[in-house]
Amino acid sequence: MPNGGFRNPWRDTNEDWRPGGVLRWQWERWRNGNLPRLPGSDAFPRATPAIANPRAAHDEMRLTWVGHSTYLLQIGSLNILTDPVWSDRASPVSWSGPRRVVGPVPEFEALPPIDAVLVSHDHYDHLDAPTVRRLHARFGGRIRWITPLGYRSWFRSFGADTLDELDWGDATIVGDGSARVTIRATPARHWTRRRPFVRSRRLWASFVIEGSAGNIYFAGDSGYFPGYAEIGEAHGPFDALIMPIGAYEPRWFMRPMHMNPAEAVQAYRELGSSGTFLPMHWGTFILTDEPALDPPLRLREAWQAAGLPAADLRVLQHGETFVRGTVADDPAQQASRTP
Ligand code: ZN
Ligand code: ZN
Repeated sequence: MPNGGFRNPWRDTNEDWRPGGVLRWQWERWRNGNLPRLPGSDAFPRATPAIANPRAAHDEMRLTWVGHSTYLLQIGSLNILTDPVWSDRASPVSWSGPRRVVGPVPEFEALPPIDAVLVSHDHYDHLDAPTVRRLHARFGGRIRWITPLGYRSWFRSFGADTLDELDWGDATIVGDGSARVTIRATPARHWTRRRPFVRSRRLWASFVIEGSAGNIYFAGDSGYFPGYAEIGEAHGPFDALIMPIGAYEPRWFMRPMHMNPAEAVQAYRELGSSGTFLPMHWGTFILTDEPALDPPLRLREAWQAAGLPAADLRVLQHGETFVRGTVADDPAQQASRTP
C-alpha cells in the first residue's frame, strides 16, 4: 500500500511521534486521578434536524451535525456524509472502547439517499466498519466513497468498490449539471492506524467541497500546522468551515494531532477569516482529558478574543441543521443572525 510517494510535508515526524506516549498519558491519568468525568446525557440537548428530504434545492446548503465528525452535507441536490459513525462505540469491538454520550441524530434509517461519503482517515471514531456495511447494504454502488490514499482494499472487503482514492491536491467530481460538486483532498496534520504496529500506511486528509451552492472546508482531524493559509488561498473563500475543536488535552501529547479551540480559530483566520465556523469532534466520543463541555466554551472565548463576528460562529447542537441559501425561510437561522 502507498506509504511513500505522496506529497506529505506534515507527515508525523520524529518530533511529533512520542514513543511510549500512550503509556505515559495513561499512567499520568491514573496517578493524577485525571480520568475524564462523563457528563450526564442531559448535558447535551439534541435538536430536530431540518433535513431536506430527499434533497435540498439546487442553490441551497443544509449541513446537519449528526455527532462527532459526522455531518450530513446537503449541498445543491447532493447528499454527502463525512466520517460516518452510527455505532455506539468508536472501537474495533462492540463491547469495549469509547462509548458515545449522545446518540446520532438523525437515526440511520431516517437518512435521505446518500450520493457520496468522505472519509478523512482510518481512526475508529472516523471510519466505522458497521456503519460502512450498513451504508453499502442500503445504498450499494450508488455511493461514491472518497478517501485519501490507501483505502481501496479495506473498502473492497465490504464489497464497496465505487471508491476514489485521492492524494493531497487531487480532486474528483460527484453529480452532474447543477448538482455537480468538486471534492478535493487537502493536507492535514495527523496520522493513521487501525492495528497495532502499523502506523500511517494510509494517508489522512481534509477536504474542500466546491459546488454552485457554495464552498465547504471539512478539516478532518488535525493538529495546527502552517498549511491553512495555502489551502485558503488556493481554494477559498469558504462559505462554511467544519473544524475539529475537541480531544486536545493533555497538550504535550495531543498537540501534533488535535487542535484546541484557540488553534482552530487561528486556522479559521488563516483559511481566510470568512464563512461560518461549524465545530465538530467534541461532545460525542469523549476521548481525552479536557472536560467534555469545555471545547465550545473555549471556542467562544477564542472567537471573541479574535474580534470575529458572532454571526459567523454556529455551535450546532447534535442533530441541528445549519441552512444557507434560504435564510429568509428559516426562523431558526434568522434568530441566530439577530445581533
Ligand atoms: Zn484521528
Ligand atoms: Zn478523531
